[in-house]
Amino acid sequence: MFDRSGLPKAVTIYEVGPRDGLQNEALTLSTDIKAELVRRLINSGIPAVEVASFVRPDTVPALADADELLTQLSPLLSSHRMSALVPNQRGLDRALHAGMREVAVFASATESFAKANLNNSVAGSLEIYSHVIKTAVDAGLRVRGYISMCFRDPWEGTVAAGKVVDVAERLLADGVTEISLGDTIGTATPGEVIELLNALDSRGISRSLLAVHFHDTYGQALSNTLTAMLEGITTIDSSIGGLGGCPFAKSATGNLATEDLVWQLHGLGISTGINFDELLATSNWLSEKSGLKIRSKSAIALVGNSRLVES
Ligand code: MG
Repeated sequence: MFDRSGLPKAVTIYEVGPRDGLQNEALTLSTDIKAELVRRLINSGIPAVEVASFVRPDTVPALADADELLTQLSPLLSSHRMSALVPNQRGLDRALHAGMREVAVFASATESFAKANLNNSVAGSLEIYSHVIKTAVDAGLRVRGYISMCFRDPWEGTVAAGKVVDVAERLLADGVTEISLGDTIGTATPGEVIELLNALDSRGISRSLLAVHFHDTYGQALSNTLTAMLEGITTIDSSIGGLGGCPFAKSATGNLATEDLVWQLHGLGISTGINFDELLATSNWLSEKSGLKIRSKSAIALVGNSRLVES
């Protein structure tokens, strides 16, 4: 008999496809399709969805319609956990105007990525976020803090865990309620995941404050997820269809696919609140409607072979 005692009974899946996924795809979807995607994800039981990014519209054209999208989604904002990325005070103002109850900031563990992605230093970007986080918390919002390049960075190589802990400490001190640890280029292996979680723990940062965000570039995402769960992590980021990537790592494949994550979790008897068939129908609908390439292995297998769906 398989001993499940080391695993959580339930996991919260934080869906990043509509934001992180679509931000890094070549196609730009219409606002109507994006809104319908979010509704379908919620209807399939996804408990938390990052729906938009309030960046300057010209910097990320694929997400330039955030205000209009949130107008369409506003009836759902009071009843469902939805968040949006805010890069600065202007973005937060737009998120507040849209009625968001949760926002996210996107920090970097390395100077090279901070420069390339945020056009700032690590300290400089944290300084901006500090004000944004405090203002959001004062307004009653939850704030999620992403930390990218937590394990390795394309310019700097291996990232010392201490750098990640420093950024996490600062974000938490400013009022962030959840830290998402990003393996942005997808190179991490399970031992590195344990080392990082231990480094955070040794500086007093509890597993309950952490989420993990794995990319599957090197095929390690599900191994890393299982390892993180065995270490006590219960919030996991994933993206419908495995959408996304990293503009600074050309070969980086998508985020961990939500369908593959749910397949594993349900196989392990871990509760997610998600209806797998509806999730599968959602990714199938998305690819048919938009032409986006679905990279979830389970979705490809099941949609491509109806006998497997039925068995
Ligand atoms: Mg990602």
